[in-house]
Amino acid sequence: MAAIHDRWGLTPVINASGTMTTLGASRVGPEVRADVDAILCEFVRVDELQERASGVVARLTGAEAGFVTSSSSAAITVAAAAAITGDDLAAIEALPACNDRERRIAIPMGHMVSYGAPVAQAVALSGAEVVPLGSAALCETYHLQAALDKGLAAALYVVSHHTVREGELPLDVYIETCRRHGTPVIVDMAAEYDLRGPVALGAAAVIYSGHKFLAGTTSGIVAGTKAMMRAMFLQQRGIARVTKVGKEGVIGAMAALAAWEKRDHAAEDARRDAIVRQWLTALDKLPGVSVTPHSDWTGNPTTRVELHLSPNEAGLHAWELAARLMAERPAIAVRDDLAEHQLLYLDPATVTAEEGEVVARAIWTVCDAARASGDGCARSWSDEKRARGRIELPWLD
Ligand SMILES: *Cc1c(COP(=O)(O)O)cnc(C)c1O
Repeated sequence: MAAIHDRWGLTPVINASGTMTTLGASRVGPEVRADVDAILCEFVRVDELQERASGVVARLTGAEAGFVTSSSSAAITVAAAAAITGDDLAAIEALPACNDRERRIAIPMGHMVSYGAPVAQAVALSGAEVVPLGSAALCETYHLQAALDKGLAAALYVVSHHTVREGELPLDVYIETCRRHGTPVIVDMAAEYDLRGPVALGAAAVIYSGHKFLAGTTSGIVAGTKAMMRAMFLQQRGIARVTKVGKEGVIGAMAALAAWEKRDHAAEDARRDAIVRQWLTALDKLPGVSVTPHSDWTGNPTTRVELHLSPNEAGLHAWELAARLMAERPAIAVRDDLAEHQLLYLDPATVTAEEGEVVARAIWTVCDAARASGDGCARSWSDEKRARGRIELPWLD
């Protein structure tokens, strides 16, 4: 693995789980690295840099304007703040105190998810009062209408595999209902590929992560109306300072967008598909595990490999396989958010063909060992959940 891991004593990781923040998100490409490197030892007018970023975002998304933040999470907070204050500098400096301003921001209950931290917290950090709409798996127009009638500064919508998948209002209905009231809609689609859809529907701010499919440096990329982007820009004199984005973050996002525009997407799709085929073939005969291609949950143009374990035959539970792969050297990260259903996913997005082979071999080795030792089903899902409740506590111990 890379020399940097040796130098700092870091665990080498093969990331077959997708663009996870906790693993460093993505492999940043050479075009982005070159631009970041070039600006790091130079000075620049950051307002001008953000103006250029706005131009790039506008070109790629069809929006009036754009803005770059330190992350999507920060963009949610800053967009919420902008919806509350507009361009009133005194109000911007007063946040999170909203005084007598409208501070209610609605979120469908089924969208109150965690991407590693709760989305509702990112909204509330601005000073907003979060107004949940509907119930866990049901949101109708009358829920939204009632909240709009009572008054809202904005309404948030999340497009993600994390959200509840049934009973939700479609994005077009959500935006059209809010627009009739003149209420701005903020769309968090940090990990989605569609750069144009929500802008075309009339969302005021649409949020993407620069470090996920765009493979840039850590950043949040926002596309939207000029008024909203300007109100977000002005938050740098208030709460956006807390989540400051540096020149390297802004240029990294711009370079990532420019590279995306020029990328040979068909070649990249073919590269990913080849790794998926490699895994399907290599794992086909693995006892107790059925492997199938799995289309993306929200329709992004990417396919993963689904492993469905029959624990008695496979020799271990899905959560145990994920944990044992992570304990390998190099550590192998797989997608385990449906592990309680004995499902794991292999994501080809950030994997090389060589790493793909290592992943398949390690899965065989770990499963063979578990079948031989018979200890792979010892920890129940309840045991696993008890352990997860304590997982961060030993840090630095
Ligand atoms: C990843 C993600 C976020 C957080 O993005 P960061 O840029 O890492 O802060 C927010 N919302 C959704 C839906 C995500 O997938």
